[in-house]
Order: sequence, then structure tokens, then C-alpha cells
Amino acid sequence: MMRLSASETVCLTALADLMEEYNVVTTEHLIRCLPDDLSHVFTALRGLSQRTLIQSTAQDILTLTETGHCFARQAQRQHRLLERFLFDVVGVPWTLVHREALRLTPMISQPFYERVIELTRHATVCPHGNPIPGRSDRPADEYPLTTAPLGQRCRLSRIAECACYEPHLLQRLWHNELLPDRALVRVPDPLYQWVIRVNQRSLVIGQRVASMLYVVVDRE
Ligand SMILES: [Zn+2]
Ligand SMILES: [Zn+2]
Repeated sequence: MMRLSASETVCLTALADLMEEYNVVTTEHLIRCLPDDLSHVFTALRGLSQRTLIQSTAQDILTLTETGHCFARQAQRQHRLLERFLFDVVGVPWTLVHREALRLTPMISQPFYERVIELTRHATVCPHGNPIPGRSDRPADEYPLTTAPLGQRCRLSRIAECACYEPHLLQRLWHNELLPDRALVRVPDPLYQWVIRVNQRSLVIGQRVASMLYVVVDRE
């Protein structure tokens, strides 16, 4: 089994997170998500491509190869378990768990990771509601908020992991209490397409954000 460097693991996680939401992911898009050290990102991308885990087209569109998918799934699993551990056990604030998990990735040893697995053994999703690979899958009956039925009581099932690469967006969601499990109703509005009622308040949501929020209809 080949071993990836810390930057390669972070790049692979971010690429897989973006590919879950966007049909097309370019190198530029990925770089915008990982602004820390550009030279590391380029070295990591070169390493991943030399090991044929990713491919890029002439238009700089990135894709995962079949082997790349397997590695990415492992990387996403570790990331989401680490988020769960940081949130539940360490008490890191919700808006920071994603960033802290990425920062911790290079430091994780196998014995530490085994403790993380043990201490999060009941968790099936990360603190943003995204399924932990190997423990759960996306709910089959979820909708993006963009297509949520009007007037029906829904529950926010998850916030796409790619939203976590935008700290300001996470802050806004937190501020508006738009967190997993929150009950909400999409209501008709003469001016805006996506208006929801949450905790007796109305919120107008833009299309981009609405497409990153997933809901399931409450059946009771
Ligand atoms: Zn994350
Ligand atoms: Zn997450």
C-alpha cells in the first residue's frame, strides 16, 4: 500500500469533497480551498498525478482515478472521524472542526487514529452531517434545499463538506442556527425563490448556498 504525504492526503480529501458537489473541479478551484501554502499544493498535486491517483485535462479539470477514489474515501473517512473526535471529545467549536482536522492530519499516528476510531465508534456522520465512509451513506430521500418541496416540514440532514472550505459561510450558517437536524420549512415568497422558516424566523437563501444544504421531509 503506497503512503501519501500529509499535503497529498489533504489535497485528495479536498478534491473528493469538492467532487461530491461540483461536476467540474479545476486546479484553481482546489487551490482556492487550500490557501495555506501554494508550493505544497503544487508538489502534492504532482505527487498524486505521478502515482496516477488523479488526472488533469488540458483545461486543468481534475478527476480521481479508480485507485484515487479508494484513497480519497480513506482520507475522507479519517477526516470525518477526526472532526467527530474534535467536536465530541475535545470540544472544538463547530465552525472550526473542519479546519482543525485538516491541520491535525499530518500529526496523526496509527495508535492515535485507532483511539479516534474507538472514541467515535457510535458516530455515523461528521458534525456537518456528512456520512462517514464505511459507517453510513447519504440518506436516499434527501433533497438539496433548491428542490425542497414548498410548505412541508423538513429537517436539515447535512451541509455539504465543500461548504467547510469557506469559513465565512460556516460562520453565517452557525449564526443562523442552520445546523444538522434543524427543523425548517421552505415557504413561498413573491420575491425570492428560497425562503425558509427556521425557529419562527424567515431566512432568504441564495442559490449557491441552497444547493449545499440538504434536507429530508419530516414524515410525522
Ligand atoms: Zn471537513
Ligand atoms: Zn464534516
